Amino acid sequence: MALLSAPLDFARDWGECALNLAFPWPESEAKEPVRIERPFCEHCAEPFSAMETHGASFECANCADRTWYFQWARAGYRTEGQVLEAIIGFKYRNEYYRHRHLVEWLTEVYDRYAAGKEWDALVPVPLFHRRYRERGFNQANELARGLRSARKIPVLDCLYRYRETVSQTGLERQARQQNMNGAFRLKRGFDVKGRSLLLIDDVFTTGATVNACAQPMAQAGAAKLAVLTVARS
Ligand SMILES: [Zn+2]
Repeated sequence: MALLSAPLDFARDWGECALNLAFPWPESEAKEPVRIERPFCEHCAEPFSAMETHGASFECANCADRTWYFQWARAGYRTEGQVLEAIIGFKYRNEYYRHRHLVEWLTEVYDRYAAGKEWDALVPVPLFHRRYRERGFNQANELARGLRSARKIPVLDCLYRYRETVSQTGLERQARQQNMNGAFRLKRGFDVKGRSLLLIDDVFTTGATVNACAQPMAQAGAAKLAVLTVARS
């Protein structure tokens, strides 16, 4: 049976290979990317309904009692449909071909909100080294490198995770902030004083992670810190 099926397997594999060459990026059945558009919170880009913004200031409840160490955060898309599929595939299923779409989306977000401003560098959110060893790559770093190629801005890999944090999933907002407090530090030999830096990650949830990244850079005198993510949940 094995002998008989081998040529068929070969033919099928070859056929799939030829198809992949013709259509290298599998089209998803999932919902088309949904862009996050204004009105949203000017600090963290939490979307508002038009009704809520009537006569109100553009700061959301998420930001009201927070100290942000960055000036603003912007995300391109909602974490659902094709965008969610791409993020999960890229991060957890070794589907490296997802990189192309994710970089396209990130570049589009960059052009929408960050283009025309002077950035010294893109700073990827680091992974703790154990998770890096398990996964073999850092998704934020790969996204930053994609944007570097697309828009010619250097990548400054200047942060490290000082201590491991429990997974943010399932934690309440307050607990997330405490969990991340002091989690990142500036690597030795990196001087960010006076620099304009754009933090890069795949998803913005409560902002606790990117804020913990921005903190040591703000304390080291960075002139401008902002955050760009592909998606926002
Ligand atoms: Zn906000």
